[in-house]
Amino acid sequence: MARYTGSVCRLCRREGCKLFLKGDRCYSGKCSYVKRPVAPGMQSKSRKKISEYGIQLREKQKVRRAYGMMESQFEKYYGIAERMKGKTGENLLQLLESRLDNVVYRLGLGDSRAQARQYVLHGHILVNGKKVDIPSYIVKPGDEITVKKKLADTEKFKEIRESEARPMPSWLTMDNANLTGRVVSAPAREDIDLTIEEHLIVEYYSK
Ligand code: SF4
Repeated sequence: MARYTGSVCRLCRREGCKLFLKGDRCYSGKCSYVKRPVAPGMQSKSRKKISEYGIQLREKQKVRRAYGMMESQFEKYYGIAERMKGKTGENLLQLLESRLDNVVYRLGLGDSRAQARQYVLHGHILVNGKKVDIPSYIVKPGDEITVKKKLADTEKFKEIRESEARPMPSWLTMDNANLTGRVVSAPAREDIDLTIEEHLIVEYYSK
């Protein structure tokens, strides 16, 4: 599948916010967005006034890039969200948040969604004891996520086992000592920590 291969920090600067695409670096003073919070190619901090369409487009791009989706893939999620009961914008975020690669990231097993996706793709992640190598796999309440022995035995995962679990969203629990995460419920809107105005994405696709 096609992937964006350019500088991910450039995407944060383009969207005007931190998208947390680079693991630990995102939380350090080395974050490019902290050092230079202006869009690529812009010389000053002032942005040109953008149109209503531009605002909607940027919100869509921000979410798409945060979750590492290509355009066509994101559109498919939007189509599914639209056909579900409830609010389309919330459904969309819930679907994205429930992807296995995102869950592996949220559990603290991957430094970024991109790294979590690699773990899944390389067959290192088990769901309910069975290998699942599809990053878009949608988890459900009751699912147990663990790491295969080969990865669990690496230095990095030994460190995770010996550390405290990071704060979890209310729909997930994590037992670091056993490298085992659990999906307690479907993600709620308030569990999604990116600042997102999903109604703008709905307006973008409603044109
Ligand atoms: Fe974005 Fe992380 Fe790069 Fe900062 S370090 S600009 S948050 S990807």
